[in-house]
Amino acid sequence: MKLEKLPIEFTKALPVVAQIEAAGFEAYFVGGSVRDVLLGQPIHDVDIATSAFPAEIKQIFPRTIDVGIEHGTVLVLEGEESYEITTFRTESTYQDFRRPDHVEFVRSLEEDLKRRDFTINAFALKEDGEIIDLFGGLVDLKDKILRAVGNPHERFHEDALRMMRGLRFISYLGFQMEQETFDAICENHELLEKISVERIFIEFNKLLLGNYRIEAIKSFVETECYQYCPGLRDKGAELLNFADLPAKKIPSEAQAWALLADQLRLQTTDLRSFLKKWKASNELIAETRAIFQGLQWRKEHPWQPLEIYQLAEYAIKAEELMFYYDRKPDTETVQSMIAALPIHSLKELAINGHDLMETFKMKPGKWLKDVLEQCEKAVILRQIENSKSVLLDYAKSYLEENQ
Ligand code: ATP
Ligand code: MG
Repeated sequence: MKLEKLPIEFTKALPVVAQIEAAGFEAYFVGGSVRDVLLGQPIHDVDIATSAFPAEIKQIFPRTIDVGIEHGTVLVLEGEESYEITTFRTESTYQDFRRPDHVEFVRSLEEDLKRRDFTINAFALKEDGEIIDLFGGLVDLKDKILRAVGNPHERFHEDALRMMRGLRFISYLGFQMEQETFDAICENHELLEKISVERIFIEFNKLLLGNYRIEAIKSFVETECYQYCPGLRDKGAELLNFADLPAKKIPSEAQAWALLADQLRLQTTDLRSFLKKWKASNELIAETRAIFQGLQWRKEHPWQPLEIYQLAEYAIKAEELMFYYDRKPDTETVQSMIAALPIHSLKELAINGHDLMETFKMKPGKWLKDVLEQCEKAVILRQIENSKSVLLDYAKSYLEENQ
């Protein structure tokens, strides 16, 4: 099969391919971008595979960065763009999984394509638009089938992460897993125990955010892969409840984790340790906690001004999740509640700690935090106006009553 017209992302990269070929090597576009072009989907990263060894690539191009030279990947900088160029390779993993993966550079495209995970990820695209399809990927693409390249048992033994990748491609593409491939996951799921949580996290995150999340979660449970994921062991029933939520794609990572945590019946106080086990970033943890807290409040009652003040934009993200609880999200109301707040942070309060210490001739201490918090709360609840004289009067009576 030949593509009539290459998308712009590829045509822009053609000079790079041409330079490698002019030096006497082969170079092809490979990986997810070729699959996505064939599916008519937008492309993100353009990967190039070549018969040239990393040192040879570095001789051809003046500007390169060693991003993963031990795996054969060199980043080539061309004008504004950069391209990951990876030497054809085969990999063999020791069966005991204790020794590091062994990567061998080879000169054969076929050897390189053979070690790829699924037939629809194992295409190579030549500069003239010709698709090289050695494993029936074009038929699988047409039939919407996810099939491991070669013997699925061997492939999952070489790298067990491929099982999680398969599940996330179900979520992303809505394809059916071919039976033998699916059975091989069911049989080999315990190999996931050897895979680092960081690698599993990347795939599971993508699984949560796919258009076909429901099917993917069901397969995740059915294959028992979930047993090797932090905090999910023995949570099959809860995961199936999660799969029962309305099908719409979840807009963001933190919203997905908040929704999942809610189905797992976690408490706000459990969230940090749950996400830490997944080695999630502090940023994701903070965002998920805020959205999760908002979700708990919102399920109980209409939004309160103090909650809106505390959560700000996260309240909107929590409100969006009401869709999954069969309630119509009303983000406009949340937006206007945020806009209507008399202050949006302590900085906007008309007095600060200095004003209080000066006025009451007192040294810093716990009283300062208490008084500021009381003032903040009274202003947000519109009990008093946000002006310096009003706040100092209010502070005075608060101190008189509480000392
Ligand atoms: P995405 O569109 O999400 O980036 P992708 O298929 O491009 O999906 P990448 O992780 O970017 O996924 O990998 C690029 C290509 O490298 C894949 O298409 C596949 O051919 C190969 N690949 C990646 N990870 C593996 C793996 N664990 N085992 C075998 N092949 C893999
Ligand atoms: Mg990719």
